[in-house]
Amino acid sequence: MKKTIYIVASIILCIATLILCILYPYWNPSHLTDEPIAEENKGLTLHFIDVGQGDCTLIESKGHYALVDAGEYKERDKVISYLSLLGVRTLDFIIATHPHSDHIGGLSDVIRHFNPSTLIMPNVESDSWNYVLDAADERGVICETPEPFDTYQIGSATLTVLSPASDEVYSDLNNYSVVTMIEYGDTSFLLTGDAEALVEKTLVKSGFDLSADVLKCGHHGSSSSSSDAFLDAVKPQAAIISCGKNNDYGHPHKEVISALDDRDIPVWRTDLLGSIKATTDGEKIYISTNDTTTEVNQIPTEAQSETAPYIGNRNSKVFHLNTCSGIKDMQDKNKVEFLNREDAEKAGYKPCASCKP
Ligand SMILES: [Zn+2]
Ligand SMILES: [Zn+2]
Repeated sequence: MKKTIYIVASIILCIATLILCILYPYWNPSHLTDEPIAEENKGLTLHFIDVGQGDCTLIESKGHYALVDAGEYKERDKVISYLSLLGVRTLDFIIATHPHSDHIGGLSDVIRHFNPSTLIMPNVESDSWNYVLDAADERGVICETPEPFDTYQIGSATLTVLSPASDEVYSDLNNYSVVTMIEYGDTSFLLTGDAEALVEKTLVKSGFDLSADVLKCGHHGSSSSSSDAFLDAVKPQAAIISCGKNNDYGHPHKEVISALDDRDIPVWRTDLLGSIKATTDGEKIYISTNDTTTEVNQIPTEAQSETAPYIGNRNSKVFHLNTCSGIKDMQDKNKVEFLNREDAEKAGYKPCASCKP
């Protein structure tokens, strides 16, 4: 009898463990992430959400969230489910960079879903605002027009508005784009909406410190933005371009790609890679997609990644010398490259017992 109870109890325990193992990734919203920065050290993550031809950036720091734009109306469900999957319940604020549908089309539903307390928008009239303002009104959202140097807190990160001044008048709506610098620790990220060379020139002339580790290229990589003087002032170590696959505008334009290339600035594109995340602990920045994780300024070019001396396995969390036979059968999607041992260990990887890296 006792034996039967033991057997039954063991079977129940095994089944329970199996169920827990299967369900665990779904309980933990961070299963979406794959950065080698330990969860507790993550200070700031920017999610460049793939909304086709449009813009949508989620800023996340210490359980607080803010959104910059929400893509076209047809992308709204994608945005809402991306945020929901991350566990976002509410947004501290939303920035609507400028009244073009590829930026604010999805915003009214996002406002209704996530009830931000504040909506930040430039001082420019347009009928395109109507749906957004209706939703804001319905939910009692405070609408604010920012001025340069206004700052907003998102968890431990600080967002500073650089442009436009509220009395500025432009002939092109793109130039009203709210331009923001987001900082955490020693790292910085510059978002420019669809601001064009005219605004870039004003910013460079203004003497603001525009240097940023990561630049989200203006206007979906159009040659109307990312002027030489601006790129030289920002000096980014990585560039993000948000645009749709085979879009009608030919974004990103080849002039921008070659200007970035000339400066050895690696580019991550949503049309090629889907949604992209940049995560920082205040010192290092890792950019990741579904398939890869790269530390900014460590492994930017293909030539370097071929010679990365250490290769980790995402699944086993073991790292090897790049000559180890243990990496031969490793699938490319499981590979993560490290330039030195410390980085691998900091990322939680253990040395391989046979090649002893
Ligand atoms: Zn746009
Ligand atoms: Zn625009």
